[in-house]
Amino acid sequence: MQLTHLFTDEQKAIRKAVREFTNKEIIPVRENLETDHSLVENILQKLVDLGIQEGGCPTEYGGTGPYSMMTRAIIIEELSKGDVGIAMSTGVNAGELLAPAIHAGNKVVLDRFAPAFSKDKICYACIAMTDSTGGADTENPLFQGRGIATTAKLEGDEWVINGTKSWPTHAGIASMYLTVCNTDYDAGDDGIALIYVPSDTPGLSFGPPEKKMGFRTTVNASIYYDSVRVPKEYRAAGPGHDAKFYYAAMSVAQWTSAIESLGIAQAAFDIALEYTGDRKSGGKPVREWSMAAGIIAEMATRLEMMRGAAYNFAWMLDNPEDYGPPFSNQMISKASLLRIFASDGCVWIANKAMELMGCNGLSPEHHLEKYLRDAKVTQLWLGGQQIAKYRVVRGYYDYVVS
Ligand SMILES: Cc1cc2nc3c(=O)[nH]c(=O)nc-3n(C[C@H](O)[C@H](O)[C@H](O)COP(=O)(O)OP(=O)(O)OC[C@H]3O[C@@H](n4cnc5c(N)ncnc54)[C@H](O)[C@@H]3O)c2cc1C
Repeated sequence: MQLTHLFTDEQKAIRKAVREFTNKEIIPVRENLETDHSLVENILQKLVDLGIQEGGCPTEYGGTGPYSMMTRAIIIEELSKGDVGIAMSTGVNAGELLAPAIHAGNKVVLDRFAPAFSKDKICYACIAMTDSTGGADTENPLFQGRGIATTAKLEGDEWVINGTKSWPTHAGIASMYLTVCNTDYDAGDDGIALIYVPSDTPGLSFGPPEKKMGFRTTVNASIYYDSVRVPKEYRAAGPGHDAKFYYAAMSVAQWTSAIESLGIAQAAFDIALEYTGDRKSGGKPVREWSMAAGIIAEMATRLEMMRGAAYNFAWMLDNPEDYGPPFSNQMISKASLLRIFASDGCVWIANKAMELMGCNGLSPEHHLEKYLRDAKVTQLWLGGQQIAKYRVVRGYYDYVVS
């Protein structure tokens, strides 16, 4: 799928630079990334040096200012071809974490949390949504916040937060936690609160890193909030507004997942294409046999459709005057169907790549098995495929559970 007509000259240059970075810095060491976290940190630090971390951070705090989703898509796709965990770590950045505070004009939050993103050290951030009682309930907009188990109560000038989050990326290593809470279960969307919590706040503690099948280059852990107190100004915006930001983040997260799926699928496709070109069967390359060629054609078809759809949605996010705000039911619906299509496509493509490579595909030295393990995660997170399907139909039915 040719996309260059959609890109500015600057975006073409960014794509070239990040693609070269992935080929030079990530691909040669990808086999060892899961077992040696210092390699991951080294790569993340080089990305900081390239200026990626400043993306989306307001200029008055040393950042680039708003950056387009098209640019973000380019960076995430290119990095995901090397390692999706590294892409993910780069993605949970100023643009995503600070977005609610930026849109709300919350200067207290920005003064406290934004400068870290423009420093020359890695700034890990964490978006803590998933409650230990079930991510699907937390992330199901049909419940209008009633599925959010973590509570926040206003006492004097402070929010007091109690609850347990499970699985958030960067839990335990991040310096800041955007925490999704409920202030009042009878208030519907008005009860949803997004509250920024610094890592050194008393009462905040963390579980050990989760062991997991995929995305092993990122850290996931439980977060325990035991009467954690933060200033009342650390709530992003206020009743109603936080819900919109939460739903907008959901659109962006579903779409980001689709871009990550695209990068993983492209990498799996490339590996299988090369392998079946070299590997001979009956005296000719495996991919010259029509049965294999048919599989490769189907892989390519899904891949190109995924790319077209994912970049199309980036364009929609960048043009809200034409397509509406990212928190509308219609945009959440489109983001969710895109994510379902891309994650299913990604798992299918990685699986077919393995099939084409036979037993050698299982061996880490051929690199494919890691992409297959990473692919599976993109079907499971963000409330899972089922909740994503509810989000899809909601854009067409427009109902909520009462
Ligand atoms: C690598 C990785 C990174 C992650 N990063 C983050 C992060 O940064 N921040 C964060 O907050 N969380 C994060 N998560 C957590 C993830 O988003 C949740 O695991 C996800 O939302 C699913 O929640 P759950 O596992 O608790 O599933 P559950 O809620 O226990 O659901 C189990 C299954 O039941 C299905 N189900 C639930 N309710 C219904 C229903 N009403 N109808 C039909 N089916 C239903 C679900 O789709 C799912 O398949 C991450 C997870 C992973 C693996």
